[in-house]
Amino acid sequence: MQPQQVFRAYRPVIAAEEDLHRTLYCRQCGSLCISEMVEGDVRSICTSCHAVHYKNPQPAVAVLIVDGNRFVLGKRISKSLGHGQWCLPCGYVEFHEDYLSAAVREVKEETTLDIRVQSILSVVTNYLTPNIHSLVTVLLAEVTGGELQAADGMEEAAWFSYTGDFPEMAFEADTHIISRYFETDLPGAPVDSNFASA
Ligand SMILES: [Zn+2]
Repeated sequence: MQPQQVFRAYRPVIAAEEDLHRTLYCRQCGSLCISEMVEGDVRSICTSCHAVHYKNPQPAVAVLIVDGNRFVLGKRISKSLGHGQWCLPCGYVEFHEDYLSAAVREVKEETTLDIRVQSILSVVTNYLTPNIHSLVTVLLAEVTGGELQAADGMEEAAWFSYTGDFPEMAFEADTHIISRYFETDLPGAPVDSNFASA
């Protein structure tokens, strides 16, 4: 099973007028920004101080929590992207946060489980919608405490035995990495144990 680390749900390059998340007002001086070609891409430029506001992918984490042949999935609530579909516990890294602590926090928030992160399984690019392009570090973890129950952002949470079949999944990347973990001898990269658990 070959590594796959780029997942496209839309055409990555979009027109400026379709870009709902472009910077409209300058973060430095508050003046109006316009879209212009700068350094080979359309970017928001301040009409007053000429600051260029770069737009980058959002860093996120997803966590494959494993117990023998079983793994945890959550069913996403109705207001989220991929609502009603299943995914690995996941979320965005806060600005003040390291990515390992973000993983521990997101798992606690969504499933109430305490975990210890064991390794980095992969890093994936997800072009999800024209305004959601995430760069996701996928981590392997084990449970250290708590009972699985759905919480923030999830309407259900459950252990699944790996059979190769999945419930309806929200993200192609999750299906791929779960399969690759269980079907190949996937070497994970070590993590900094100072940040791997709460
Ligand atoms: Zn400005």
